[in-house]
Amino acid sequence: MKIARFSHEGADPAFGIIDGDEIVVLSGDPMFAGYDTTGDRVPLADAHLLAPVIPRSKVIAVGRNYAAHAAEKGNAVPTHPLLFFKPNTSVVGPGDPIVIPEFAGTVEPEAELAIVIGKVVKNLPREHWQKAVFGYTLGNDVSARTLQQGDGQWARAKGMDTFCPLGPVIETELDPAAVTVTSSINGEAAQSGETKDFIFDVPTLLEFISQAFTLLPGDVILTGTPAGVRPIVPGDTVTVAATGIGELTNPVRAAL
Ligand code: MG
Repeated sequence: MKIARFSHEGADPAFGIIDGDEIVVLSGDPMFAGYDTTGDRVPLADAHLLAPVIPRSKVIAVGRNYAAHAAEKGNAVPTHPLLFFKPNTSVVGPGDPIVIPEFAGTVEPEAELAIVIGKVVKNLPREHWQKAVFGYTLGNDVSARTLQQGDGQWARAKGMDTFCPLGPVIETELDPAAVTVTSSINGEAAQSGETKDFIFDVPTLLEFISQAFTLLPGDVILTGTPAGVRPIVPGDTVTVAATGIGELTNPVRAAL
């Protein structure tokens, strides 16, 4: 089932289930309120899709979870998951611009499978990993490389406003170990990888992360990016894609 968050004809954002070329409108956020419908349907083409989740407390991102991407940046494969945060103010939705300030230097997009957490979770045993998951979406871990190298930690390089596009929908039924993750810039293929090649699989990530942090409904985990990253500049259009979820496209703009 694919869940969208959308606005239609100027109304407040609503949630719905994708049914062919229509959205079945839900009466509340399905993460908290279940799947009661309002009885309305909206043509998908007329809906403005929004980020399908606004993380209540945090986006946790995993660095260097594909060996080929670690190698292309000259980094060793980590011995345990390498974690960092992106603030929820970095989240934007499908079609929203990625806005690059002049001080950002070289900026690269990173296509990532994103886990949407559905329950309060702490010290989750890996065999119960599925209890934590509401569904999966796509994330773009936009990264300012010059700042990432110069700052010594990654908060500014990866946490700026608009540096975490999410969407287009949440897929609730997906095998996260069997997804192809790709990106393209202006229609030209860039990254490609398979989640079966994760250094740390989703059960391992959920167990490890929940030992350090309480996970809350609506939190998002970005699972790392495959090889093939390349820079973007204002005027470009970047698309990240995942089999079973869809495509997330954002234009790139310079800050005013
Ligand atoms: Mg990343």
